[in-house]
Amino acid sequence: MAELTESKNFIHAFIEEDIAEGGRYAGQTVHTRFPPEPNGYLHIGHCKALIIDFGTAEKFGGICNLRMDDTNPAKEDTEYVEAIQNDIRWLGFSWGDRFFYGSDYFEKDYEFAVELIKKGLAYVCELTPEQAKECRGDLTTPATSPWRDRPIEESLDLFRRMRDGEFPENRYTLRAKIDLASGNFNMRDPVLYRIRHVEHHRQGSKWCIYPMYDFAHPIQDALEGITHSLCSLEFENHRPLYNWVVENVSVPHRPRQIEFARLGIDHTVLSKRKLRQLVEEGRVSGWDDPRMPTLCGLRRRGYTPASIRNFCERIGVAKAPNTVEYAFLEHCLREDLNETATRVMAVLDPVKLTVTNYPEGQTETFQVENNPVDPASGTRPVTFSRQLWIEREDFMEEKVGKFFRLFPGNEVRLKGAYVVKCTGCVKDEQGNIVEILCTYDPESRGGDPADGRKVKSTIHWVDAGNCYDAEVRLYSNLFDDPDPDAAGKDFLACLNPNSLEVKTGCKVEAALATAKGADRFQFMRMGYFCADSKDSSPEHLVFNRAVSLKDSYKPGK
Ligand code: ATP
Ligand code: MG
Repeated sequence: MAELTESKNFIHAFIEEDIAEGGRYAGQTVHTRFPPEPNGYLHIGHCKALIIDFGTAEKFGGICNLRMDDTNPAKEDTEYVEAIQNDIRWLGFSWGDRFFYGSDYFEKDYEFAVELIKKGLAYVCELTPEQAKECRGDLTTPATSPWRDRPIEESLDLFRRMRDGEFPENRYTLRAKIDLASGNFNMRDPVLYRIRHVEHHRQGSKWCIYPMYDFAHPIQDALEGITHSLCSLEFENHRPLYNWVVENVSVPHRPRQIEFARLGIDHTVLSKRKLRQLVEEGRVSGWDDPRMPTLCGLRRRGYTPASIRNFCERIGVAKAPNTVEYAFLEHCLREDLNETATRVMAVLDPVKLTVTNYPEGQTETFQVENNPVDPASGTRPVTFSRQLWIEREDFMEEKVGKFFRLFPGNEVRLKGAYVVKCTGCVKDEQGNIVEILCTYDPESRGGDPADGRKVKSTIHWVDAGNCYDAEVRLYSNLFDDPDPDAAGKDFLACLNPNSLEVKTGCKVEAALATAKGADRFQFMRMGYFCADSKDSSPEHLVFNRAVSLKDSYKPGK
């Protein structure tokens, strides 16, 4: 897999060329940036970009800046800025002291705009947005622009007065003078600045003209000395404009933009706008709802940084749009947790099991391995007594088909303890089974499957005298539809009404009483779980299932 990813990564190949002798950045340090817009929380799609930006820098011994793309004055919020930093740190990436805001360059942006006007490469235009649309032309007809020959002095004066706040929104724009006949519409004298009488979250009311992303972004990259500006594919058509900007303003560096395909995952949406809508309409409990594809949601659900990084590295970097199976993300999590999670016992749908030949009041302790995959993980004590809890579905009054667990006359192993033989059950007046009866064989202590006894099944259990009640939350796909993110689809109509199943009255072994959100557990036979970082407390334990044990991912599918 590693070699495959290596050869798939065309970005690395470009960079190798660029830094080799004779290349455009020969001998220079590779310098990338990650430029999130602080208008929402990071999602798993952003992880792909993070791996590409930070990971590529790491690979070439370079550096990566974190830059908040806050040139657009609306919507931005410091809550998001902090959450973004937190998520990136959690993934294990570091921007050192290279943290920037796009808005910190507003003064520079303005100076470079003035430079373009002075060079005759930009002009103040008076078309309203509607008129501008009418003048755009089409594939065979060039655009028209009645103001493009406005004298330089006049544009300079108007642009200064735009900045001074003399005009209402939409009265004027500043446009680049490039090519009205270009087959690339982004080059048909694109708008560089527009008037917006809106406060900026960091600049306050200092500005009422704001640069467009296509103008601000290349300048930010160039001023920070970025060598490789890696971005998603929708910017491919903007690359000629990106290059035009860095070539025509006097910036000290010429970064190279390289585009890659966005990550899509089935059964989810990866658009901040849609994710925000889920939050605002109360369809989920928040940005960190464990069903959300956000980093904070995945973290709360039980995902580890290693599993997410591994996932992003293994899906590779391609130019063709790719949708990856959610099942592959889960597969990566299982792989990691199999190595690292502590094995414990918890009963989600409990029914009492009484060991009738075990003395009342007696208790004994078994030392069980925390993680058989990792011998260094040690052991912990688990108690056993006459009254236990087991899963209701592990008992059948009358055996059906290939059922080899508890039914009258049959033997099972209680994991790590004894072999027991079912002798019957007790029912209430309505005929519901309320207790299962069995006898144990003292000779089978340790319940070691290597003891040569023919016992087909091993089931998990907890000591009723030494356990805790817990709430357990089981999750499935947030969306029933495999492609809720498709253009034109009503994604809200694709929501899975059963994506959250809450189980109360579950019984967990004593070791789980002090579980913290960052601890990961395998509940034997039930899946991988973690304590809910928000809602779990010693008084009310709450566990999230991160992923079930059953792997539905088929490599090469
Ligand atoms: P959204 O559509 O979710 O709002 P965005 O592109 O507006 O996404 P930004 O905050 O601007 O979000 O993204 C920061 C960086 O992450 C950009 O370089 C963007 O290309 C990249 N990115 C965003 N979504 C994905 C994705 N699904 N796959 C890969 N990269 C992505
Ligand atoms: Mg964006």
